[in-house]
Amino acid sequence: MNRRKFLTFSVFAGAGAMVAPQTVAASVNGKKDEKTIPVRVLGRTGLKIPVLSMGVMRADNPAVVRAAYHAGITFFDTAHGYQNGRNEEMLGAFFKDKDRSTFTIATKVKANLRSVNFETEYEDALNLSLRRLQMDSVDIFYTHAIENTGEVNDPRLVETLKKFKSEGKIKYIGFSTHANKPAQIDEAIATGIYDVCLISYNFTLGILPELNEAIQRGVDAGIGFVAMKTMAGGIEDANGNKKVDGAACLRWVWQNPNITTAIPGFTSFDLLDNCLEAAYSPELKKADVEYLAGLRNNELLYCRNCEKCISDCSKHLPIPSIMRAYMYNYGYKYPSLSKDTLVELALSGKECSGCTSCSVKCPSGFNVADRIAAITPIVNVPSSFLT
Ligand code: SF4
Ligand code: SF4
Repeated sequence: MNRRKFLTFSVFAGAGAMVAPQTVAASVNGKKDEKTIPVRVLGRTGLKIPVLSMGVMRADNPAVVRAAYHAGITFFDTAHGYQNGRNEEMLGAFFKDKDRSTFTIATKVKANLRSVNFETEYEDALNLSLRRLQMDSVDIFYTHAIENTGEVNDPRLVETLKKFKSEGKIKYIGFSTHANKPAQIDEAIATGIYDVCLISYNFTLGILPELNEAIQRGVDAGIGFVAMKTMAGGIEDANGNKKVDGAACLRWVWQNPNITTAIPGFTSFDLLDNCLEAAYSPELKKADVEYLAGLRNNELLYCRNCEKCISDCSKHLPIPSIMRAYMYNYGYKYPSLSKDTLVELALSGKECSGCTSCSVKCPSGFNVADRIAAITPIVNVPSSFLT
């Protein structure tokens, strides 16, 4: 079976960005069924990408990458900081002998705009990522995890990204964000250089109507949208270890035709199979709707980014980002990423000291002060002790 063969598109209707689905030969369990993954177009990049992609962040087994690639997944998302660079190295080793036209690579680098040497540091980081990936260029280069308004259109960042693109080191410019998403999208539209936005997007979001309107404005301006954090932390309640039904979560995301693809971070063959089953049958089911409605009542690990807590908190702490670090540690079991997230925020581990009563009323039911106390001390743990 030729993995690049296309069949007539029939799964979705009504979205201008739809094209014929990717045809794949088999699931990773070796069943020889012919299955199809619908394909959508990523904004003005024109890239045709299956609705299911791979967030490689925590995957450290190249056999899972190989299985995803052979199952018809073509878009792989990594970052400069994942696994201290080993994630990019793994992808570089896997793709070095593959036809460059059969896959799309995105990587991300954080921009330290406080540094006076920002431009050279940023270029050095991109060059290191390219060496690890064993590539002359990446398809999509994201500025990683922009959280504050005003950074997307920072003049030094904009000029540096334009330089990278003119030198051919990156094909398309993007940024990733978990916070202030409608405002960030509007800034991206105004700046005019951004081709792709990678945003957290899932069934729990508290700002969905406002966000969907901003996404539509972005799509109208030619920006393509990729969804991350699609499984809202991946666990059904904050105390348990029962995994969410990832297929239902993905089908919810794909309802929005303006989301080109989702990048769940599957790390095993079972999780890949679960995602593939969703992609082969991507319409949202009645059972999915009922399941997700039930989950919304649980205290999940995922912070819904309503941002109410920032004004509630007497110290205006960056609580949504701290809650994300909590999820990385207690949900993803990825303490080094949790620490990195908090170090970026310049936290000390004693954020709530001197505050006798927490004034935050989180609509998700989080005991925010307890979670802050449970995660921020990780900034003082030597990185060599963390995985
Ligand atoms: S911690 Fe709670 S209040 Fe703060 S953004 Fe998240 S869901 Fe909203
Ligand atoms: S206890 Fe912490 S989170 Fe709560 S109001 Fe005080 S500083 Fe803010």
